[in-house]
Amino acid sequence: MIKKLDFNPVEAEKNNELPTQICNMCGEKFDALDFQENCRFDHYFGYGSEYDFHHLDLNLCCKCTAKILDWLLPQCKHNPLTYEPEVMSFPPADCNDGKN
Ligand SMILES: [Zn+2]
Repeated sequence: MIKKLDFNPVEAEKNNELPTQICNMCGEKFDALDFQENCRFDHYFGYGSEYDFHHLDLNLCCKCTAKILDWLLPQCKHNPLTYEPEVMSFPPADCNDGKN
């Protein structure tokens, strides 16, 4: 079951109430679409890795996410990107678009 989220980035942006989130790569503030996509990498590196005991908390805007994927995907022997439109309902199921 998908949990209904209280935070609506589009409404928050209209009301000038978007929280401040900065893209780690370009330094720009997130807009509503960046919050909707919420491209984030959160990882703790364990002992034996090249980044022992470091925490990666990477937040990327949509433009920087595309730049990273443009670089990363061609290097992958197994493509991690799949097209799964059935996973996303658009507009979101809890969105009242006046059609129901
Ligand atoms: Zn960015």
